[in-house]
Amino acid sequence: MITIHNKNFVPYISEDEIKKKVKNLAEQISKDYDGMKPLFIAILNGAFMFASDLFKELEIEAEISFIKLASYKGMKSTGQVLTAIGLDFDINDRHVIIIEDIVDTGKTLHSFLPQLRHSQPKSIKLATLLHKPEALLFPVEIDYVCFAIPDKFVVGYGLDFDNLGRNLKEIYQIEE
Ligand code: 5GP
Repeated sequence: MITIHNKNFVPYISEDEIKKKVKNLAEQISKDYDGMKPLFIAILNGAFMFASDLFKELEIEAEISFIKLASYKGMKSTGQVLTAIGLDFDINDRHVIIIEDIVDTGKTLHSFLPQLRHSQPKSIKLATLLHKPEALLFPVEIDYVCFAIPDKFVVGYGLDFDNLGRNLKEIYQIEE
């Protein structure tokens, strides 16, 4: 067990399990996008580790860019989506794959994806490390999911609790 900001967290998904899933996903995407030179757009901060590991395992020609959206404060989505900062690629006519750390209520992507569609990419798909199906409030179509998890707060492997815990190699779940 570990403690972050006075909350206890228990080990939930091991480093090995994460590695395996990420590798499998990279193989799948490499098959699906062979010859299409997809553009990955990773959403900071949470997705940085997942994006990096996934990108390393790809066996095809691909590009990546990192953007920042809404901030997530404490243990609940604040809901206020900020404008995308840092998208330095023209996505028009490109095959785009969004990389997210976790889809919780779906609010972030539900607001952001229509913005991206305005630029008329050839296609947009969504890859997320984690998904909480029970928490989904806004319709979001998810194309690639590594782990579907219950509606409990998690940290580690890029995900934080008030800025701490991102460096953990495995994923921890809040102890209840
Ligand atoms: P949504 O808009 O889908 O409700 O929330 C998406 C964002 O909320 C994620 O990108 C993530 O930053 C944050 N989030 C949602 N659930 C969790 C969680 O269990 N742990 C952490 N660390 N962040 C979460």
